[in-house]
Amino acid sequence: MRTIKFGSQRSVPVLGMGTWMIGEGRADRSDEIAVLQEGLEHGLEVIDTAEMYGDGRSEELVGEAIKGQRDRAFLVSKVYPFNASFDGVLAACERSLRRLGTDHMDLYLLHWPGSVPLQETIDAFQWLQEREFIRDWGVSNFDPMDMEEVWACDGGSACATNQILYNLTRRGPEFDLLPLMEEKKTPVMAYSPIEQGRLLRDSRFCDVANAVGMTPAQLGLAWVLRQSNRLAIPKTSHVSRLRENIAALEYPLGDDVLARLNELFPAPTQPQSLEML
Ligand code: NDP
Repeated sequence: MRTIKFGSQRSVPVLGMGTWMIGEGRADRSDEIAVLQEGLEHGLEVIDTAEMYGDGRSEELVGEAIKGQRDRAFLVSKVYPFNASFDGVLAACERSLRRLGTDHMDLYLLHWPGSVPLQETIDAFQWLQEREFIRDWGVSNFDPMDMEEVWACDGGSACATNQILYNLTRRGPEFDLLPLMEEKKTPVMAYSPIEQGRLLRDSRFCDVANAVGMTPAQLGLAWVLRQSNRLAIPKTSHVSRLRENIAALEYPLGDDVLARLNELFPAPTQPQSLEML
């Protein structure tokens, strides 16, 4: 499987697992745990969660899924912007670690830009990093101006990622944010890579997938992962869909397919505000 590197850490596969809305009773809890464990079996290491998801219930479920195999997982969690003061970050991190049942996170992100001065949040991330409660830190939903602000902070160049909304129907970041991240050699995590399932209901898109012998989910994921330095974190509560999504990595996309997708979902020709879900 192709891999990607965050900060100073080991390389991880470019496909990870999202966990928004798990642990909330929408699906069978044992199925949700089984999906994460099956993913780890297949070598998918990155599990993305947040203190926000289900008020901590997602982190608790992830903790249950990785019990006894912590080292196989690369755990990513996020702090609310309103918890992003120095003391707030430390306390939020402690709560997340307790729910996850571990003594460290691999990557800890600021969930979206807020009103606490960034330098204060970064100082807290560094404090946690020095004590090995987190291996690396990053941000999420940061537009180009926000990223420049991060890099201008003391220690800001250590920012290991920006997790953003990116898929075929949300190509805005291609105009400015993705080139900027590339220039700074900072990898991007693409969230909602199949637009929370909505992309799969586009009949013209499904026709392209059929024509190349892929499922719509596989085509959507293969497109997001067509270039290096990107990781996608689709969420599913079905083991069969997880296996289907993993197989997306086996399909390189030809120029003709990319051209057809460009017709259906044109690349941006001017700056667009960064969208978030
Ligand atoms: P996704 O684009 O991953 O889509 C998830 C939806 O697609 C679910 O309804 C799932 O259904 C369905 N699905 C997944 N695989 C398949 C498949 N092969 N065939 C058909 N349907 C499929 O959306 P998310 O919003 O969940 O994004 C992924 C992750 O990104 C989140 O879980 C979260 O970890 C992160 N995220 C981060 C945000 C941020 O602000 N930083 C914001 C939003 C998300 P089912 O589960 O029933 O299989």
